[in-house]
Amino acid sequence: MEAKKKTVAVVLAAGQGKRMRSDVQKQYLLLKDKPVIYYALKTFQNSFIDEIILVVGKGEVEYCRKEIVEKFQFTKVNKVVEGGKERYHSVANGLMMIEDADYVFIHDGARPFVTEEILTRAYEAVQEHHACVVGMPVKDTIKIVDEKQFAKTTPNRETVWQVQTPQVFTLELAREAYQKLLVEEEGLKQQGIKITDDAMVVETLLQHPVKLVEGSYENMKITTPEDISIATSLLR
Ligand code: C5P
Repeated sequence: MEAKKKTVAVVLAAGQGKRMRSDVQKQYLLLKDKPVIYYALKTFQNSFIDEIILVVGKGEVEYCRKEIVEKFQFTKVNKVVEGGKERYHSVANGLMMIEDADYVFIHDGARPFVTEEILTRAYEAVQEHHACVVGMPVKDTIKIVDEKQFAKTTPNRETVWQVQTPQVFTLELAREAYQKLLVEEEGLKQQGIKITDDAMVVETLLQHPVKLVEGSYENMKITTPEDISIATSLLR
């Protein structure tokens, strides 16, 4: 019988949330009576995932350990580490803390509505393809615009997906891609390439194919103040 594979989640909560225009960072804002970050951690805790690494902002490790991990008894969180300036620095810090794993699930802590079904779909895909990301086909028509905000092109909507998390990789692939990224970071910046998700790291640095897996339209990211009211009504 094949040995069980080890799965580790890196949950990101080190963003500043500038677009939220709030003194409280978005991951700690309350949704119903719990902080935003509680919901994703709860789903990972109750799922097949073996371990969780929580990545938090500078100086927040002790606070999160006490007020989130201990308070809500997230026993699968075995490390709480500080993130970095950009999202990809936070991911790299999380990846470095993994002792051993076959697969790593990278998830935005600001997406409270991830479900165990989504995790399962991603797990099945990563075993076959080694790299997959959760997303959904867009509902709106998308325009590519120029610097003056005039429409340049309109991609065929059937081929455009909005990307969510988790983004799931073999640990080997994720580590190789992120190590390469940290070496080539400056060069990419000079070419105007801005890394905004993990799939992009694997596509750009390793040219490895990434499979898209169905998430859900509810698997939204809390980014701006309106998102808190949308998320609150989704919880009801
Ligand atoms: O900024 P953005 O909305 O893309 O953030 C997505 C997720 O990445 C959030 O959960 C945020 O806390 C996290 N993040 C991070 N470190 C950063 C920037 C974002 O952990 N430097």
